[in-house]
Amino acid sequence: MENYLSVLNPEQRQAVLHWGKPLLILAGAGSGKTRVITTKIAYLVRERGVDPRSILAVTFTNKAAREMAERAQLIDSRAAEAMIRTFHSFGAWFLRRNGALIGLDSNFVIYDDDDTVTLLSSIMPNTTRAEAAKVAHHIARAKDYFLTPDDPELALIDHRPQFRNIYKLYEERLKAIGNVDFGDLIKKPVEILRAFPEVRQRFQDRFQVILVDEYQDSNVAQFELLKELYTSQTYLCVVGDDDQSIYRFRGAEVRNILEFPDRFSETDIIRLERNYRSTAPILAVAGAVVDNNQGRLGKTLQAERGNGKLPTLVFLPDQETEASFCAELIEKSLRSRGGTYSDWAILYRTNAQSLTFETELLRRHIPYKVVGSLKFYEREEIKDALALLSIMVNPRDEIAFKRVINKPARGLGQVTIDKIIEAASHAEPASRGNLLESCRNILPELSKKARNGLEGFLRILAQSRSMITTEGDVCKNSSVASDRLTAGDGLSALIVYILEASGIAEYHATEDEIAGTQRLSNLQELANAASLYPATEEGLAEFLEHIELDRSLESGEESNDSVTLITVHNTKGLEFRKVIITGLEQGIFPRDDKQDEDLEEERRLFYVGVTRAKDELYLTTCALRRMYGRASYNQPSLFLSEIPLDYIKILGQIPRGFKSGPKSASICDPSLHGAGQRDAEDGRLGPYARQLPRAPRTVSSDGLWRIGASLFHDDYGYGQVVRISEGPEGPLIEAQFETGKQVRFLSKYQSERFM
Ligand code: ATP
Ligand code: MG
Repeated sequence: MENYLSVLNPEQRQAVLHWGKPLLILAGAGSGKTRVITTKIAYLVRERGVDPRSILAVTFTNKAAREMAERAQLIDSRAAEAMIRTFHSFGAWFLRRNGALIGLDSNFVIYDDDDTVTLLSSIMPNTTRAEAAKVAHHIARAKDYFLTPDDPELALIDHRPQFRNIYKLYEERLKAIGNVDFGDLIKKPVEILRAFPEVRQRFQDRFQVILVDEYQDSNVAQFELLKELYTSQTYLCVVGDDDQSIYRFRGAEVRNILEFPDRFSETDIIRLERNYRSTAPILAVAGAVVDNNQGRLGKTLQAERGNGKLPTLVFLPDQETEASFCAELIEKSLRSRGGTYSDWAILYRTNAQSLTFETELLRRHIPYKVVGSLKFYEREEIKDALALLSIMVNPRDEIAFKRVINKPARGLGQVTIDKIIEAASHAEPASRGNLLESCRNILPELSKKARNGLEGFLRILAQSRSMITTEGDVCKNSSVASDRLTAGDGLSALIVYILEASGIAEYHATEDEIAGTQRLSNLQELANAASLYPATEEGLAEFLEHIELDRSLESGEESNDSVTLITVHNTKGLEFRKVIITGLEQGIFPRDDKQDEDLEEERRLFYVGVTRAKDELYLTTCALRRMYGRASYNQPSLFLSEIPLDYIKILGQIPRGFKSGPKSASICDPSLHGAGQRDAEDGRLGPYARQLPRAPRTVSSDGLWRIGASLFHDDYGYGQVVRISEGPEGPLIEAQFETGKQVRFLSKYQSERFM
């Protein structure tokens, strides 16, 4: 047997060799589902003589797609020609080639959520941005469920009668502008495939093999797309894990996986039951928590790697301490046990939590990267840069136009800008909506200052355009030398030129000086990323597409040795040697608005986070957290209390009332007293223990009192100690009496009066 097949276990091998009927691989985390897909691609090319161009493999993130391509190529270099993409990137590819059939220009720009909200705000005057964002969310859901503005089921998403009209108007505006949103990347290809049988035939002929990873998170529209591409001649194989379905809020339909055998007749099902990623104690924690969900398919998962280090649960006072705990843990581990920064990943529930970690890691000079976060591209300077590129590519992009036309100030007032937009919408059909042309027409009407400013802007865009050649040489005629930004290969010279010439670089450099931000280096990072793309029309379109689809500068950072900061959602499919899941507090993870099915989804998310870890797992929870400008005291996450105590090691002071999972001994077990002083072999709590002065004690320092002890008082009767703290004059005891009174007293004065 060929070596690459002999490394697989029998079920995995069976899945790779499987052919003919549709195949569903249903298996838990780390069981080799993705590995089966990559191996299968290579196997089909190598052993079955399948033309790699006829293979379509769909994954969840661009990073996963790249990895899949690399791994398949390691086995057989011909696999490079297979189409390995995300659903969205496949949709964009499809639309660039076939969009013209429905009147879509091939150089459309993909609107992100923010652009969508801006567009909606202009459709819905007198509404707040928050309201527009809500409608944007509903439109996105409608598209996920493949619902048009006329669909009767639309009311299930938003029952307000006006929603239908806004959705319709939004679609019309988007079409007029010539751009698409994320949902369109799936919805429009389906519409084209349905409306044009010859196109459908062409694609069905081309893709003989369709493979889908992370199938549990596909949505209705994506299912429709699969159906259009599928014929009885297609070999279809999907893999997934119902316990890892975490995108229901974005319209993912776990039913897609549960009902797969009904929808594709004669489906074969293969289960993989051995986990090769994590050690047994890590899997035990994952299993104990996800077990609390109802309605699971239920899968066995055997830890092939056997025993390992017990996961650690750490109670901390606040998020700053949490950040320094993480940083110190990483530093200590590197110092004492070796390894690399990239062994480590810090996971959090929401992006807003990343900032504290970023600040702490920066301060300590620990290299890190933020993966998959919206943050980078949400930064003002980056949005400005992208708007310049967008308006250059598509002169009808109103949102981009508004963003940069008078930034930095070119002497154009709002009235003039509105006039330009208005004139564009009434222009001759050939140039309707073309804002740059409308700018040119309005020039004679403007004051000298405004005219100069606008002429300069148009010149820069024209010059930028001329820098992209059909040959894709490095942009030769870049005439702006910059000492602020460095131009490299490919498109990066164009980016540096447009940023400098337009004044945006200077604008943000000033901001750096005033606010001490990192804006210029962010712009530089954008230019660096662009150097991987040729300076051609297509290269630019691809670059913009990559950004819209991926929203992280993963490429190029890959080889750097750095700690990964990442939301739990974004860790899907990934693995790290050492994982810290942070912010495990009620209200944070799970979020407080989550109940019933939503709570189960949060639990699956926790399961995903835990099962990313190969060797070590740390869970942190803080008593106090500041989020969105508010500070609040939170209880430890419900999920932590579902872990039996003997499955984990505890650091820090256990808050009163915290109960662990059912199979363990009770927290009141005397052997666990003083758990805060116990240390993990890799790094004592040290300073963190000292930062817990306000945490409740269970036994007074003079040894006379403990929480729960009964006592008697002449005046108040029988009572029970409920709190113990340490004051400057010794232990302070608080007791609840049968009369309902709660009384505080100093141990040293009062001890005789009680029994
Ligand atoms: P997830 O559900 O998290 O996406 P998965 O089922 O896709 O996980 P993979 O990522 O394919 O799992 O595999 C998990 C890890 O186990 C990888 O490091 C992979 O290389 C390794 N692995 C898979 N199968 C085997 C095997 N037969 N022998 C050794 N290692 C394996
Ligand atoms: Mg996988």
